[in-house]
Amino acid sequence: MSDLAQRDTTVAIIGAGPSGLTLANLLRTAGIGCVVLERRSREYVEQRQRAGVLEHRAVRMFEEWGLADRVLRDSRVDGVQEFRVDGEPRFLPIAELAGGRFGRILPQQFLVQRLIGAFLENGGDLRFGCADVALDGLDTDRPAVTYRDGAGAAHRIVADYVAGCDGFHGVSRPAIPEDARTVYTYDHGIGWFTVLADVPPPRHPTFAVSEHGFAAHFPRGPRSSRFYLQCAPGEDLGAWTDERIFEQLRRRIGDPDLPVGAVLEKAVVDMRSFVVDPMSYGRLFLVGDAAHIITPMGGKGMNLALADAEVLARAVRSAVRDGDQRPLRDYSRVCLDRTWSYQEYSRWMTEMLHDSGDPATSGPFRHRIARARLNRLFTSANAGGLFAELMAGEA
Ligand SMILES: Cc1cc2nc3c(=O)[nH]c(=O)nc-3n(C[C@H](O)[C@H](O)[C@H](O)COP(=O)(O)OP(=O)(O)OC[C@H]3O[C@@H](n4cnc5c(N)ncnc54)[C@H](O)[C@@H]3O)c2cc1C
Repeated sequence: MSDLAQRDTTVAIIGAGPSGLTLANLLRTAGIGCVVLERRSREYVEQRQRAGVLEHRAVRMFEEWGLADRVLRDSRVDGVQEFRVDGEPRFLPIAELAGGRFGRILPQQFLVQRLIGAFLENGGDLRFGCADVALDGLDTDRPAVTYRDGAGAAHRIVADYVAGCDGFHGVSRPAIPEDARTVYTYDHGIGWFTVLADVPPPRHPTFAVSEHGFAAHFPRGPRSSRFYLQCAPGEDLGAWTDERIFEQLRRRIGDPDLPVGAVLEKAVVDMRSFVVDPMSYGRLFLVGDAAHIITPMGGKGMNLALADAEVLARAVRSAVRDGDQRPLRDYSRVCLDRTWSYQEYSRWMTEMLHDSGDPATSGPFRHRIARARLNRLFTSANAGGLFAELMAGEA
């Protein structure tokens, strides 16, 4: 290739989502060189709306790394979870039950915008519009990432480590030979119809359980809400007119006065889980959705991505500063322990909040089991405490 440009760095990061941008900022703070390669434009990634809750662990991470003022500014604090059971509100004081730990409400696109701003202001190297990203030499001492820029010029970045932060559909995971990875998948057999709408946020994040089916109402910024409605997997989007959306929400949440607002986005998410083991191969480390996806139930996907990023940043710092390779060797195990714990939490909640809805769907036995489980959260301090601890995230 005659137009090949070369530039060395310590970590080549593929993907500028929450995991790649967090890793980049932490490495930059630690004085470790990195280059971030993103397929999409800056405008695109800054507008992508998805998650909205930062758990306590993520808040602590940004505080410890000196990024909290920049990243968490104006994020809403909410220490209470509401359950609307057959239209009746019940409240779990998460912060109180979890020993003072609670998360912050911060829409993912704001987090991404702020992480991009902080990285660039610190002189970070972030390249948008990178096409044909490919990895090679992963099992050598000098792995490389190649790509084409917007003008079509080819580039090759030789690094000490490659971080695959390119999400579920990225190129990093497939770069691991098939016989060097085990994949775990699970289809929960449920769909979630998800709606982003200009409806004032609820007083507290709300899960609604009733014979009409599961629904949830979460804040997304000062004027918007994200709603989830249980539906059949792969359900036809066209079947959900705006009128039907609000009629179903009012019925399921048990609030006939729920305001109607402009629907900004709608999609059907099939509830499925995916984990690859190990999360590393040679000098490649998978981070976030590239290694695991989890259902939105419990709000842990983005939080797992941020947690992986911090584990990897610390491990690279140990290797580069102290010559200690052990944390890098432990990276996959440490991240997978948390991943499986959160998969269990998410699955447990999925069963509890869907089976306790329409008995015709779950069957009378599972329906009663799920109602007993739900009830126990409010009658047993230990059960409520465990739920709150998992919801707030580890210390
Ligand atoms: C509708 C929805 C709702 C969700 N709700 C929640 C929630 O409430 N709470 C929660 O915690 N999580 C939630 N999630 C999950 C959360 O959004 C993800 O877990 C999170 O975005 C993962 O971050 P990531 O950086 O690992 O991956 P991504 O956000 O997917 O970022 C990957 C980046 O890599 C880029 N990329 C991909 N391929 C390439 C390539 N070949 N070359 C270069 N760049 C590439 C992509 O453009 C992207 O910018 C939700 C997800 C969805 C879809």
